[in-house]
Amino acid sequence: MNNAQLKKFLRDRNVLYLYHANTVATSCTFFENGGLLSRGTAEDRGLFQTPQETDERDKQVDVFYDLFFDSIDIHRRKRNLNHYGPVMFVYSIDLIDSLPEDSIRITKDNPIRWHSGMTEEEKYFLSEDELKIGFAKGDFTQHFTIRHQMEPLSFKYLRKIVLDDPGVEDTRYFENAHQHLQKLIEQYAPTVSLEVRQCPPECGCQEQYRSHRIGYVYHRFKTK
Ligand SMILES: [Zn+2]
Repeated sequence: MNNAQLKKFLRDRNVLYLYHANTVATSCTFFENGGLLSRGTAEDRGLFQTPQETDERDKQVDVFYDLFFDSIDIHRRKRNLNHYGPVMFVYSIDLIDSLPEDSIRITKDNPIRWHSGMTEEEKYFLSEDELKIGFAKGDFTQHFTIRHQMEPLSFKYLRKIVLDDPGVEDTRYFENAHQHLQKLIEQYAPTVSLEVRQCPPECGCQEQYRSHRIGYVYHRFKTK
């Protein structure tokens, strides 16, 4: 399936955006370096990124140089924190037009459950027929990956950034992150809007942000 066919398939399923969540500190690195970076590329270039315990595993199953996206806003769907961080990058699927053929894939399961001997067919949807049967918008285990992304992924197709408001009493980490991101966006991606996610009380994130020690909010919102 080529990129145009994939984009049409997604459009027909009402998948119009691709979502990538990260910490504030790693997001700052993205802005300062012209785009989203795979874990491997950031590491090779000696750039700061928040440590992730999956890095070693990601190397074994060859996703360390891949950029990960979801087909939905997981925070909103799950009504809870996105594990990867409070900053969400929202890209238009027009991004697909700009990618080399065959560089974007959709995983059949979360690579955390992969092992090194698996075949491409076991890991990814490789045809439109397979996608028609198995793809479900909003399935948290089916990730979009841009394979072997060795350069920053440009902000050309980035439509907006959404930042969680943790709703905690001590607002200084949130405010610092918000101001810092605003400055970076003005400087490096001036057409992109920055939204603050104001969650209703029933969203689990509010409870989580409040119940964790202050170190948790600090870690997710610190700017470096
Ligand atoms: Zn929330």
